[in-house]
Amino acid sequence: MASEKSSRFVILYASQTGNAEWIAKNIHQEASERGFVNECYVMEEIDKFDLSKENVLILVTSNTGDGDPPDNATKFFRFLRKIKSNTFLSHLKFTILGLGDTNYTNFNNTAKRLEKRMIDLGAAPFYNKGLADDAMGLETTVDPWIANLWPELIKVCVQKGKDNNNTQVENIIESVKTLSINGKTESNETSLPSETPNGQSVDKKMGIASGTKIMLDLSELAKVEQFTALPRIPTVICKIIKSNEERIINSPTLPTLINTPTPIVNTRLDAVRCLTHPEALKRTIHLELEIKDYREKLEFIPGDSFGIIAPNNEKLCLGILKTLEINENEANQEISVESAEGTELPSHLRNAKSTSIIELLRYGVDLNSLPRKALLRLLAEYTTNEEEKKTLLFLCSKQGSVQFNLLREQVPTLLDLLITFPSSKPPLERLLDVLPPHQPRYYSIVNSPLVNRDLLHFAFNIVDYKTPVPYNVRKYGVCTPWLDNLSGYAKEINKRVPLTTDINIPIFMKPNSNGFAVPSDISRPIIMIGPGTGVAPFVGFIQHREQQIIAERKLNNIEKTFGEMWLFYGCRDIEKDYLYREELERFSENGFLKELLVVISRAPNAGLNGNPKYVQDLLRKRGQEIYELLDQKNAMIFVCGDAQGMAKGVNDALADILVEHGKIQKSDALKILTQWISDKRYLRDLWS
Ligand code: NAP
Repeated sequence: MASEKSSRFVILYASQTGNAEWIAKNIHQEASERGFVNECYVMEEIDKFDLSKENVLILVTSNTGDGDPPDNATKFFRFLRKIKSNTFLSHLKFTILGLGDTNYTNFNNTAKRLEKRMIDLGAAPFYNKGLADDAMGLETTVDPWIANLWPELIKVCVQKGKDNNNTQVENIIESVKTLSINGKTESNETSLPSETPNGQSVDKKMGIASGTKIMLDLSELAKVEQFTALPRIPTVICKIIKSNEERIINSPTLPTLINTPTPIVNTRLDAVRCLTHPEALKRTIHLELEIKDYREKLEFIPGDSFGIIAPNNEKLCLGILKTLEINENEANQEISVESAEGTELPSHLRNAKSTSIIELLRYGVDLNSLPRKALLRLLAEYTTNEEEKKTLLFLCSKQGSVQFNLLREQVPTLLDLLITFPSSKPPLERLLDVLPPHQPRYYSIVNSPLVNRDLLHFAFNIVDYKTPVPYNVRKYGVCTPWLDNLSGYAKEINKRVPLTTDINIPIFMKPNSNGFAVPSDISRPIIMIGPGTGVAPFVGFIQHREQQIIAERKLNNIEKTFGEMWLFYGCRDIEKDYLYREELERFSENGFLKELLVVISRAPNAGLNGNPKYVQDLLRKRGQEIYELLDQKNAMIFVCGDAQGMAKGVNDALADILVEHGKIQKSDALKILTQWISDKRYLRDLWS
């Protein structure tokens, strides 16, 4: 680019849950208002941009698992990897914003890897990268990073006109107020819809949620003279357009709002089994879905996972409608969501055509995730009470950051916010501008198609917990309590209960891009490590290989060597939460599972006097044999489960085994493990 400024720039984002997309599009919008010519694409839209022709680039990326790139970054990473010339991007200046979480080992690994690759290809940073930490609140880094981006961007990119965005936005907001669909009609609790989209009736006891008021300490507010670092008023993007015809939209056969990588099908809930004792710390449920009508669409192998589309809690949706004073008729009317002129709808609302407000609340937006400052800023704009407005502005200002974090600790829903600030009545279309997308929930498949390809088995913990003292508010997940309710709250441990009523669960297959699957070579040993529900895919792995071996024996009538299978499993109490105990012990007795190694973390002597507490302790104990399997028998390692503590603990234990038994340095051991990860010999399916 030499020293002259670029006439334009490009923003590329990769997003797993919608945060990076939202931030990238906000930068795009604000940059346009500030007079920068710019375009914004998701990284996987690789044919829409040409890096060999661009001079300035802004990258925004989140992370998934333990610092892995989001799914929609895979193509871009592959594209960068294939480039051989280290001057390919030497004409390009770039900066990068990463969204990560310090609770995970590889904090913001995707942003760091991307930065390194860009530099290796000759690109030069024009502004320091930002590494936002969700543990602290993303805004703490994102807001100042964006504020300081503009003076740096001016140095490399032409800016036309003056920065007059605020007046423009205010004007748009005024016009939207008059366009509001938020009519002041009487709310009528009893006549609100009481069915979920699959025609399944909602637990009548649920009624309408009334929300929980957020606890705030506003003693600091009185001392503040001026709020600084306020986020800008969110851009007007979404417009709700009522259909000309008065049509009621409710209970479609399949939820179509969510973009999914493969088609959605309606499976039938076939059976339930409770895997835990009533006194277990977590309640774990096993479900079976009948898929025989979708054999082609739902081909699977152990290691695959699938997504479930669960609606937001009906009671919560109804509570929000009531608080926003949207009546039943309005909530069920056919509408479409369109973008305001010069803007583009967020990707999760692109299918919001011929839908209804209640559908948008059920499937379109996330009503439970931690609120962003932008949401509070928006609520402040629509608040008539001066005290409430001041409090909302305080909470999203620099001065209110401590209280903002305390607010997030209470994990408030949108309804909790609305009832805490009752004079705030934003039009729903403005809420669509800031609420994150509703997400499908992913589960590992537990069974092998070689045993039964008409059923999909999966297991999950019911998400049900209390916020910390002094709040002590009970919180529920979205999907797991819904599934628990539909399957009748099974209680008796390990009793399979067939379900005879027609209950539909919309699901879709998640493409398995990381190769987490049983090796086709049955002679290859596998070491499986999966505490808690992390064991789920391994039940399928063992079933699968058992069937392969049986088939091989029948076919060849001679004993072919098959690879040893070792399973490291951890639970808290052997009587209360040993998941799939019957199956695992049977595999072990039959000899298909060579070693079943179970560690009990809450046993009285766990972690004391050299007794193991976690799977990694057991790994170390059996270090010599593990080393031999790896060194002499070319074993593969599979780890499934929690990305926060377990994945690191296991990685450290494996490194220690290589050091102790291979007589190498720790740094070399860590390099070997990294190499095994890229060679797909050491595979990890980590869940946040
Ligand atoms: P969990 O019940 O919370 O824990 C299982 C065992 O792991 C307990 O004994 C626990 O001990 C122990 N543990 C705690 N910290 C550990 C550490 N740093 N290293 C090793 N072990 C540790 O497990 P879970 O809730 O089922 O979680 C497993 C993870 O797998 C979740 O992230 C889940 O989302 C994911 N996952 C789910 C599926 C699915 O299909 N549902 C599939 C694969 C993975 P203490 O509590 O006594 O410390």
